[in-house]
Amino acid sequence: MSSKKPSVLLIYTGGTIGMMQDARSGELKPFNFKALTEQIPELEKFDIRLSSVSFQKPIDSSNMHPRVWIELANIIRENYKKFDGFVILHGSDTMSYTASALSFMLENLGKPVILTGSQLPIGVIRTDGKENLITAIEIAAAQRNRQPIVKEVCVYFEYKLYRGNRTFKYNSAHFDAFKSPNYPVLAEAGVDIQYNTSALLKPVHKSLSVHTNLVNDIAILKLFPGMSEKVTSAILNTPGIRAVIIETFGAGNANTESWFINALKSVIDKNIIVYNVTQCLEGKVIQGMYETSSALKRIGVISGHDITFESAIAKLMYVLGKRQTLAKSKKMLLSNLRGEISV
Ligand code: ASP
Repeated sequence: MSSKKPSVLLIYTGGTIGMMQDARSGELKPFNFKALTEQIPELEKFDIRLSSVSFQKPIDSSNMHPRVWIELANIIRENYKKFDGFVILHGSDTMSYTASALSFMLENLGKPVILTGSQLPIGVIRTDGKENLITAIEIAAAQRNRQPIVKEVCVYFEYKLYRGNRTFKYNSAHFDAFKSPNYPVLAEAGVDIQYNTSALLKPVHKSLSVHTNLVNDIAILKLFPGMSEKVTSAILNTPGIRAVIIETFGAGNANTESWFINALKSVIDKNIIVYNVTQCLEGKVIQGMYETSSALKRIGVISGHDITFESAIAKLMYVLGKRQTLAKSKKMLLSNLRGEISV
């Protein structure tokens, strides 16, 4: 502990970065952490105290689940004082969901938590995994005046550092797989790593508070022209739901037919949250801008502003997990809690 070297904890959950091809079926399957690190001798050369923990059974991130987010949050809580930063190796498919969830679960985070992975396994000659992992570690260890430069949950992929809860995976074939259309890139790695200091979350000077109560009783209603009353009603009447995300058109607009508005109103009357998230990847929900969103505003649909779908899911799970009044939950949804919306 007397070492002045920055310390980073590497947490391996799985994903393509550590996958190998099954000799018989040819499928890509998660492999163990030792096999991964053997492929990157560069890790030995870092002037960083690097420790690691690996999931016993690494997963393809399509099998991600809130119980794994809780496990990750607990690993960070237990090791928070021992390390200057954290790197989570994770499949890219659901990386934005995990980054969003952790951003809400880790309140008053004062250290970097960087998620990264790759599109090609580390054992493949053209892998993007080496650069992603090495630079993510460097960012997790980066300090200015002996303070971490980054104090939030981020995604690092293909030379760019993003606020995690602003990202989504937009490309399954390119190395440049993520986008953050409503918030600027936090850093770019070229010859140097250039931090966009004004875009980073400011320090909060409070101690870390970890929230692990997540509620997943959420339904999704993605609107499309011609959506039937029968299907709408089946989704909205799902037993036990506590919130519905309506994925709307443009600036938060929807069909104005009375059957649709009445169906939403009866859900709201049952104290179920209806949360308006636009299908557009850029821009935001402005209820009341068009006639086609005024009724939503009137009946009490909550605007998601410029939140991503991934972050909306995570924010709802976090907010529903709190033992609090509906009014307080609605207020939290409308507020910027971790830099996830621009209000
Ligand atoms: N299916 C993989 C996963 O998300 C894809 C990746 O890692 O890029 O685990």
